[in-house]
Amino acid sequence: MISTDAASPLGKAVLATHSRYATRREGSVATYIPALAAMPPDLFGLAVATCEGGLVEAGESRHPFTIQSVSKPFAYALALDLLGRDAVRAVVGVQPVGDPFNAIELDPRTRRPFNPMVNAGAIAVAGLLQEALGEGAFAALQARLSAAAGAELALDETVYRSEAETGDRNRAIAYLLRAAGVFQSDPAQVVDLYFRQCALRVTARDLAVMGATLAAIGSNPLTRQEVFGLEAVRDTLSVMFTCGFYDGAGDWACRVGLPAKSGVGGGVVAVVNRQLGLGVFSPRLDENGNPLRGLLACEALSEELGLHAFDATNVGSRLLRALPPG
Ligand code: GLN
Repeated sequence: MISTDAASPLGKAVLATHSRYATRREGSVATYIPALAAMPPDLFGLAVATCEGGLVEAGESRHPFTIQSVSKPFAYALALDLLGRDAVRAVVGVQPVGDPFNAIELDPRTRRPFNPMVNAGAIAVAGLLQEALGEGAFAALQARLSAAAGAELALDETVYRSEAETGDRNRAIAYLLRAAGVFQSDPAQVVDLYFRQCALRVTARDLAVMGATLAAIGSNPLTRQEVFGLEAVRDTLSVMFTCGFYDGAGDWACRVGLPAKSGVGGGVVAVVNRQLGLGVFSPRLDENGNPLRGLLACEALSEELGLHAFDATNVGSRLLRALPPG
C-alpha cells in the first residue's frame, strides 16, 4: 500500500481538520433503523485518496459502518454502465428536489422519481438492476462497489434485517413505483435489493478510494482496475453535485463546492474531479440526515486546499500536483 506522507501539505491538512472537529458533539445518530442506534456517536474518521494512489487517514478511518445512501451514486453508475443513459433516464430524472430523502413522491410532470440520490430514485435504480440482472443483482452490485473501494465490502446482516423489518416507507415507495409503471418486478424483491445495498459495510478509507475512483474517471487508483465508464462517471458526478445532500444540497454546493453523497450511517464521500476522493465517517446527523462533521470537515478541507469547483485561486490543483505520487 502506498501511503501519502502525513507531513505533506495534504497530510497536514487532513490531520489538522480531524483534530479541529474531533470534539464537536452536535447532532444525533439515526435511530429510525433501530440497529443504527447502536453506533457509538462520537467516532470520527477522515481519509483522502489521490488519483495517483496516495492515501492519508486520520482518526477512526478504518472503523466499519453501513454505507446507506452513499451507495446510491455507485448503484446509479452501475445502471448507467449496464443499460446506458436513455434507459436509466426513462425511469429516474436528474432534477434536484427540496424534500426529505425518504419523501413518498414522484415528479408530477414525468411520474418518475426526481433524481437517483433520494430514496424513490435509488429504489427505481434497484428496480432496473433487478430487471437486468435478476437473482444476480445483489452480487453484481456488491462486486462493483467492492471494485470501486479496492476491498471486499461485506453485508452487515444485523443492519440489513433491522431495516428490512422497519422500512415501511421504502416499501411504500417501491409499490408506488410499480403502480406508476417505473418497473414491473415484485416491489418486495426490489426493496430487498435496496436494503442489502444500503447495508454494505465500508470505512472512511473505503469511501475515499471509491471517491478517488470516480475522480479518476472510473479507474481505481490503488488497483488500477477500470470500474466505471466515463459517461457513467460524468452523469453520476453531475447528480452528486446537484442532489447529493438532499434538502441541504444547495448549501453544500456553495460551501464545499464538490460532488458528494451522504448516508445516515455517518458516511460522506466527496470528489475532486481528476484529483482525489474524500471519505468521512461521523455518525451524528443534522436535521437533513447528513453527517454534521462530514459537512464541516469537507468545508474546511475545501477551503484550506482550494478544492471548491469554482474557487478562483485553484490553489488545490497546484498544491496537489506538487505532491509526489504515493
Ligand atoms: N437505507 C436508508 C433509507 O432508505 C438510507 C437513507 C440515507 O442514508 N439517507 O432510509
